[in-house]
Amino acid sequence: MTITTVQTEAQRIIDLESRYVVHSYNRAPFVLAHGEGVYLYDTEGNRYLDLMAGIAVNALGYGDPELARVIAEQAADLIHVCNLYHTAPHAELAARLCELSFADRVFFNNSGSEANETAIKFARKWARQRGGDDKTQIVTFTNAFHGRTTGALAITPREKYQAPFRPLLPDVVTVPFNDITAAMSAIGPQTCAVFVEPVQGEGGIHEADADFLMALRKLCDSYSAALIFDEVQCGLGRTGTLWAYEAAGVTPDIMTLAKPLAGGLPIGAVLVTDSIAQAIQPGDHGSTFAGGPLVCRAAQVVLERVSWPGFLMHVREVGNYLKESLLALDSPLIKEVRGRGLMLGVELAVEAAQVIQAGYAHGLIMVNAGANVLRLVPPLIFEQEHVDELIDSLDAILSALA
Ligand code: PLP
Repeated sequence: MTITTVQTEAQRIIDLESRYVVHSYNRAPFVLAHGEGVYLYDTEGNRYLDLMAGIAVNALGYGDPELARVIAEQAADLIHVCNLYHTAPHAELAARLCELSFADRVFFNNSGSEANETAIKFARKWARQRGGDDKTQIVTFTNAFHGRTTGALAITPREKYQAPFRPLLPDVVTVPFNDITAAMSAIGPQTCAVFVEPVQGEGGIHEADADFLMALRKLCDSYSAALIFDEVQCGLGRTGTLWAYEAAGVTPDIMTLAKPLAGGLPIGAVLVTDSIAQAIQPGDHGSTFAGGPLVCRAAQVVLERVSWPGFLMHVREVGNYLKESLLALDSPLIKEVRGRGLMLGVELAVEAAQVIQAGYAHGLIMVNAGANVLRLVPPLIFEQEHVDELIDSLDAILSALA
């Protein structure tokens, strides 16, 4: 008797990945095939409500017709030329980012980590010109996340991430988040940069207090240090204002962006004041792919859409509705609901992984932020009806776990 094993397409792909791809991620047990609006579909035809948007990337959801059309048109015209040539999307995107923010100039790159690497270099050179070769200290905060490349990792104070890769960039000091007194004792003439997320993402969704950001601004001004806001996750409409810093009324010297900016294509951006920009000369920094016409054209579409006041009001309204609905969920497993706009964290009395795993069977795609925090960062086109759908499923999952 011959036994034939019928292998599904999903299993074939999962087997290929496990054989040929470096095992640096634990992936969900299905294969995603396409998306529409706020839903993703796997190869077996199962539908999932998306609560994580490719980790806070897909602000316009899936299959957005304008974005797809513009990318196709630009791909037919010009995808890449390198930074030795002018292109319209690059120049126009930079101009628009400056018009819409505190910044005077922009440097593009390809990811959030890279944007933070660039910010470290810019701050180092700018500060050196002000305070000499010893002005190299970088201040970062507990629960911060700035990326996985070696410089960004050095300012991401998580033992598990850093330990296997030491020695890292020296002269980094970690200060308790939202602790003004501790910041006052750490920041001084030796400081070249202070890195802070106005709303911490990976570290568990923690909002910086307005007073704290104001105090950092004053300290940086007193000691000629660059105040750097990492808005890679919380920027571009995620919190209900275009920039998360707007809530505190404090502007930085440098701001880093990435995730949603080019609608899912890889991009990073470093927005700077004129003072910082003046420290940088041709040859100081560069990147082959950065600021290419295809990604910049896609980013122009995203930026126009997410900066529209009606769009931002929608994020605030749906975000408030989501937060209220989560707070109304009467579960002993929910300890706290944090965040604003569509960047919310639900601190649980159990491991978030348990809820995420159970979510798949309920058609939910979710992500954690630390061991016990469920992070809700859906596409910004999320509607109230999607919130209701989520809450029904979450209620069932939490009741079963309790
Ligand atoms: N900064 C913040 C605040 C982030 O949330 C992330 C990624 O999650 C990064 C930097 C790193 O970005 P990337 O993964 O694009 O390198």
